[in-house]
Amino acid sequence: MRSIYWFRSDLRISDNLALAKAMQASDSLMGVFILTPDTWKAHDAAPCKVRFLLENVSELSKELWKYGVPLLIRRGPSFSHCPSILDKLCKQYDIESLYFNHEYPLDERERDNAVGEKLSGYVAMKGYHQHLVFAPGDVLSKQGTPFKVFTPFKNAWIVKAHNEQAWQAAGLIRKKFKAEIEPDKVPSQLKDFTGQVIDLMLDPGEKAAQKKLKHFCDNKLYDYSEGRDKFNVDGTSLLSPYLAQGVISSRQCITAALESSEIRDIDSMKNKEGAATWVSELIWRDFYHHIIYFNPDISRRKPYKLKTDAIPWSYDSVLFEAWKNGMTGFPVVDAGMRQLLKTGWMHNRLRMVTAMFLSKILLLDWRLGEKHFMSHLIDGDFAANNGGWQWSASTGTDAVPYFRIFNPFTQSQRFDPAGDFIRQYCPELAHLDNKKIHDLHAFGVDVDALGYPQPVCNYKAMRQRTIDLFKEL
Ligand SMILES: Cc1cc2nc3c(=O)[nH]c(=O)nc-3n(C[C@H](O)[C@H](O)[C@H](O)COP(=O)(O)OP(=O)(O)OC[C@H]3O[C@@H](n4cnc5c(N)ncnc54)[C@H](O)[C@@H]3O)c2cc1C
Repeated sequence: MRSIYWFRSDLRISDNLALAKAMQASDSLMGVFILTPDTWKAHDAAPCKVRFLLENVSELSKELWKYGVPLLIRRGPSFSHCPSILDKLCKQYDIESLYFNHEYPLDERERDNAVGEKLSGYVAMKGYHQHLVFAPGDVLSKQGTPFKVFTPFKNAWIVKAHNEQAWQAAGLIRKKFKAEIEPDKVPSQLKDFTGQVIDLMLDPGEKAAQKKLKHFCDNKLYDYSEGRDKFNVDGTSLLSPYLAQGVISSRQCITAALESSEIRDIDSMKNKEGAATWVSELIWRDFYHHIIYFNPDISRRKPYKLKTDAIPWSYDSVLFEAWKNGMTGFPVVDAGMRQLLKTGWMHNRLRMVTAMFLSKILLLDWRLGEKHFMSHLIDGDFAANNGGWQWSASTGTDAVPYFRIFNPFTQSQRFDPAGDFIRQYCPELAHLDNKKIHDLHAFGVDVDALGYPQPVCNYKAMRQRTIDLFKEL
C-alpha cells in the first residue's frame, strides 16, 4: 500500500499511533507538513511559536529520513488550501491511504472534513486519536454526557486509564522504507513571523524533549507540588512548548513520571504527591480539549457560560496597553507580563494572576487577554489558553468562583517572598527591600522617582465593582 502521513500537531516519531499504523501497513510511505501561515496568523500564533515549529519540523524530517521516509513541505497558505494540496499529492504519487492524528479545535476539524470530502472515493482517510491520552467522548459521566467540572472528570479519567492501561506510551515500529524521493528543505523562517522572535533556549526535536522530561523527573518531580507555585523557582517541567506541538506525548510524560516515582500503576499515584500533582496537570490538558470539542461555540469566541457576556466588559486601550507592557504599577503583574514579552513563556500562577487582573480588576474583556497571550506564547494552545482564561475570568466551565480574585500583593508575598522574580523583570524596583517590593504604596515608595508607573486603578474599588457586577448576573 502507498501512503502519506500528514503531520500537524504531532511532530514526533515515538508514541505516535497513526504513524505506527502507517508504517505497519504501507510498502511506500512519505510524510507531508503543510505550512499555513495565513491561518496561523488568523489564529494569533506567536512568531516564537512558529519559529520553534519550523525547527521541530526540521528535526523531524532528519529523524524520519533515517527510516527512509521523506518529509515533503507544502505551502497553503491557509487551511482552505489543504484539500487541493493533498489531492494533488495523492494523485501524483498514486496514494491509497492518508494517515493523521485528529485535532480538536473547530477550524482544524472543518479542514479535515473538507480534505475527507475531496479525497473521498479514492484515498482512505485513516485518522487516529493520539493528541491526548483519551479522545473526546472516551471519558463520560455515568449518564453518558461530557463532564462539565474537572474533579469528577479526573476521577473517571484515572479509573479508565488504570483499567485500560491507557497511560502507557507505545514503542516504535522498526521498519526501513526504500525512499522514492528526497525530503524537502524546511524553511528556517516565514515572512509573517519574524517580528518578535524570542529565544527561550529550547532545543528543538524529540530527543531534546525527552532529555528535558528526564531532567524534570530526576530533579524536580519529587518537589513539584511545592515548587510549581513559586515564580522565582524553576520548579515546573517547561515541556508545554513541546506538548503543544506534539514533539512529546502526554503518555510519554506520564509513563516517565510514574517510572521515576517507582509507581507501577496510575491509580496508586496518590501516595506520591509530586507525580500525582503533575499528572493532574496533564489531565487538565485532556479536559480542556474535551471542552472545546463538545462546545464548538468556544471556537467562535463565545464564553462557556453565555450569561457572562452580559458583563459590561471594557475595551479601554490605555488600561490594555499598560497591562500588555507590564506598566500597571502592580509589581507582580508587571513582572509576569514582562516575562511573557521577554521569553514567550509565563509561569502558570502568574498566568492566573495576570489574567484575573485583566478580567476582574481592570474589567477588560478576557478575550483581549486571551489573544495577547496567544500571540506571544511559545506554548500557545487554543484549548489550554482558552480554558485558563475562562477559568480566571469565571466565564468558563469549572471556573473559579467570581468572588475569588487572586490578590496580586499577597500572591507575590507568598510565592516570591524575597521579591527575586520582581527584581529580575522590574529592575527599577531592584533595590527595594523584601517588604516594600510587593506593595509599593503601603510603604509610601516614591514610584515617580524610580521611573515606575503609578497604579492604573484603585485595586479595592475595582475588585468590589466586579463582584457586584457578577452578583447581578
Ligand atoms: C490564562 C492561562 C493561559 C494558559 N495558556 C496556555 C497555553 O496557551 N498553552 C499551554 O500549554 N498551557 C497554557 N496554560 C496552562 C499552564 O499555565 C501551562 O501549561 C504551564 O504553565 C506550562 O508550563 P510547564 O510546561 O512547565 O507546566 P507543568 O507544570 O510542568 O505541567 C505539565 C504540562 O501539563 C499541562 N498543563 C499544566 N497546567 C495546565 C492547565 N492549567 N491547563 C491545561 N494544561 C496544563 C501542560 O501541557 C504542561 O506542559 C494557561 C494557563 C492560564 C491560567
